[in-house]
Amino acid sequence: MKQEIITVPDPRLRKKAAKVTELSEEVKNVIKRMREASLDWEKDHPHEISAAMAAPQLGELYRIIVIRDNTDNKDNQSFVALLNPEIVKLEGKVEEDYEGCLSVPQIYGLVPRHTKVRLKAVNENGEPIRLKVDGSYARTLQHEIDHLNGVLFIDHIKDKKDAFFELDSDGELQPLDYAKIKGDKNLWG
Ligand SMILES: [Zn+2]
Repeated sequence: MKQEIITVPDPRLRKKAAKVTELSEEVKNVIKRMREASLDWEKDHPHEISAAMAAPQLGELYRIIVIRDNTDNKDNQSFVALLNPEIVKLEGKVEEDYEGCLSVPQIYGLVPRHTKVRLKAVNENGEPIRLKVDGSYARTLQHEIDHLNGVLFIDHIKDKKDAFFELDSDGELQPLDYAKIKGDKNLWG
């Protein structure tokens, strides 16, 4: 079954998601649907790779994210699930890089994020784990944990004139008209 990824201005994207308290069948099913949705989306977007997803993007207000093991290789379709992920410490420098989001169609942004992050979470077997990550993995995790708090990447750059882009038909990023973005009620709802 094709899973529906919700997009702005759906109000569920702006809610704080609830902690997972047990590995119920419902929770396991949400995780399964998240993996399916990530891969379905990718089939329709030949220039892009689906790196991760948060449960609220399927309209499920649980603190669950799935993140791809390896984002350099589209043939690797394995996603790790993290339940109740929490940032313990943001470290390193703050750097800008491009981000997109399955729930904010067509728009990319240059978003400042910390280059290193320490996290705690619960894995799919219900075991507590700790992670220390950097690079694009650290960026992705900050983006996904934002989703669990009703925050989207565009919120971090809403006052920056030169931070918004779109993909052209060749898969190249082109600057977007800031006035148009700023005035788009669907984005900021
Ligand atoms: Zn996103």
